[in-house]
Amino acid sequence: MLALGAGAAELALGVGLAGPMKHAVAGLLHLGLHPRPERFGPQPVGPAAQRQASALKPVALGQDLPGAARPADLPWNRLLSFDACVQCGKCEAACPAFAAGQPLNPKKLVQDLVSGMAGTGDAHYAGNPYPGKEIGRHAGAPDQAVVPGLIDAETLWSCTTCRACVQACPMLIEHVDLVVDLRRNLTLVGGTVPNKGDEVLAALRETDTQGRHPLAARHHWASDLGLPVIADKRTSPRTEWLLLAGEAGFDLRGQKTLRALVTTLRAAGVVPALLGERETDCGDVARRLGDEAGYQRLARQLIATLQAHPAANLVTADPHLLHALRNEYPVLDAAWAEQLAQGRTRVWHHTELLAELLEGGRLRPKADAADRAPSVTLHDPCYLGRYNGQIEAPRRALKAIGIQVIEMERCGLNARCCGGGGGAPTTDIPGQRRIPDMRMDDARATGAEVVAVACPQCTAMLEGVTGKRPEVLDVAELVARAVETSVEKNA
Ligand code: SF4
Ligand code: SF4
Repeated sequence: MLALGAGAAELALGVGLAGPMKHAVAGLLHLGLHPRPERFGPQPVGPAAQRQASALKPVALGQDLPGAARPADLPWNRLLSFDACVQCGKCEAACPAFAAGQPLNPKKLVQDLVSGMAGTGDAHYAGNPYPGKEIGRHAGAPDQAVVPGLIDAETLWSCTTCRACVQACPMLIEHVDLVVDLRRNLTLVGGTVPNKGDEVLAALRETDTQGRHPLAARHHWASDLGLPVIADKRTSPRTEWLLLAGEAGFDLRGQKTLRALVTTLRAAGVVPALLGERETDCGDVARRLGDEAGYQRLARQLIATLQAHPAANLVTADPHLLHALRNEYPVLDAAWAEQLAQGRTRVWHHTELLAELLEGGRLRPKADAADRAPSVTLHDPCYLGRYNGQIEAPRRALKAIGIQVIEMERCGLNARCCGGGGGAPTTDIPGQRRIPDMRMDDARATGAEVVAVACPQCTAMLEGVTGKRPEVLDVAELVARAVETSVEKNA
């Protein structure tokens, strides 16, 4: 109660006051009343050990506000967190959209909310502007809509939800929660998602796929691989391994990775089943684009399918799908949370499984695999690294086939985003450069022949970079090449 009172007093009296004590008081209160207290608690153990405090909080549809329209719509402890910002600029330095010259700067975003609560504008903001936007043109008030008076919509749509700002922030401020909350209002109330974002949301509503594909086409790439397919049956007995293909199943490049993964798994005696036309979109993109209603429908649908067709192990090569299954669905559905917590279902990223199979000797690299290996750098996917805390598995898998990764300057939890998350490729807000071009420059600087990836979005973004560049190969493709003899022998 004391902390609640102190927090309310800080918000009521402290906002707008200057001086070092303001941040000290707000910072202490913010840490004590953090909107994600699970960030400080012990991490779960057992099969849920890698679960992260990175899942968005679901909206109680019909009860909660559909996102935030005004600063005053945000929870008070979130507002308090903005007041704790010490303007160190670490989030700005980490932000790929800012670096690309898109109209986003997470430091200014936080300060704009502080101004909005104080009923002022940005005329006195001394830091860097949103690229391409003049300082002094925006103002707001606690009860006034954030967009467009205080912040332009395109600022919010520039975010890739990469969490680099959250990772960098010494005050543990949660910028992505803010962006998504404001997007929810734009999407669910205003219906104003720019460029292809609107089309993708409509396709998801009408077809349960992002590109209006027939559901059965998701697994056409596997038709000659002899995998068991759980198709029309309403329920099926428990499966040992179930592979979720995700959106990559519809994409030629994604299919290449999936085929490499399946042939490699078979070499280790793992034959995964497929859901066939019962696999529907996981809802990741709908959620990042602010369509919380669409996300919840898609999530509940896929959870119901997975409960009707139970599997001991779910494996996916898509970190966005992984994050939904492992971190976001348990917040939405108590039965799913229990299923994971009790270890009845384990969720794997494919690099985790490959690392385990290689280290356990079930997959053996060819004798000359290390000699023939190209020089490799590794691009960490944001939704595997920062969202799931998993930066070791791809490196372990590569090490097991004789590849020592040449690290980029920004790697692991501090890796630069490829530009593919958060629905950003669909909203497509222009900047001065493209984020994947900058990431490819990071890869080029290592001199490596190959940039290894572990996400179909990263593959698509980095392969879209023109000019002389390293080859882009999924970790599964590199492993498949290294164990080729075993594949032939066992397939
Ligand atoms: S999540 Fe990534 S793109 Fe969005 S503001 Fe933070 S650093 Fe920038
Ligand atoms: S990193 Fe955190 S404290 Fe530093 S400017 Fe950004 S929001 Fe403020």
